[in-house]
Amino acid sequence: KLSKRLEAVAKFIPSGATIADIGSDHAYLPCYLVHKGIVLHAIAGEVVKGPYESAVKQVQKEGLAAKITVRLADGLAAIEPTDHVDTVAIAGMGGPLIVAILEKHPEKLQGVTRLILQPNIHAKVIREWALAHNWAILDEEILEEDDKIYEIVVLQRGQMELSDAEILVGPRLSQRQSPTFIKKWQREKENWQRVLHAIEEAEQTPEIEEKRAELTALIHLVEGV
Ligand code: SAM
Repeated sequence: KLSKRLEAVAKFIPSGATIADIGSDHAYLPCYLVHKGIVLHAIAGEVVKGPYESAVKQVQKEGLAAKITVRLADGLAAIEPTDHVDTVAIAGMGGPLIVAILEKHPEKLQGVTRLILQPNIHAKVIREWALAHNWAILDEEILEEDDKIYEIVVLQRGQMELSDAEILVGPRLSQRQSPTFIKKWQREKENWQRVLHAIEEAEQTPEIEEKRAELTALIHLVEGV
């Protein structure tokens, strides 16, 4: 059974898509998608040998070797033109690593029309990357599993405008104001306030002053959403 997190990622894969799951680990996501008949073909990419071997094993065990190609490759290098990949999923990593993967082989995204990105932390950098590279937010999701809160950002090609607050918290998520969304930003705000109180006692240096300004700005931003 797929985790609640990966199940939420799977919901954004269009039926009939040709997908590349980058950083696939056990290839659970592509196996699930093929079993459900959502996709016919998938690529599972892994850069680390151990997880790559786990993916190969899992695909063989499930009898899906004809439909899922597992490749040992760095990020988008797992995608070949003859794959005709139109959808890329990158899940379970930090936002900055996801962005680094997207930026390293941009030519591999030529035929790709949808990106489903699930950063464990710092979703903000993904929205910044999208803004700068002509991708627009199609949808977003936020969910909690095992006491961790995860965000999913779904992108399609196009332009968008986002405020600073929307870049931080997500435009769709802030429109919806789900209990998980409120919980996440309440938590973050309390953390920032804790740090702010702690540094109020600290010596006044330019660095501390900068940190104080940054935290105050962040608190203001989330109070406005
Ligand atoms: N995507 C799965 C999920 O969401 O459950 C696995 C997440 S796992 C925490 C992250 C995986 O990404 C690891 O198996 C790691 O080896 C792989 N990874 C990290 N950097 C990568 C890169 N540049 N290219 C391909 N895979 C990468």
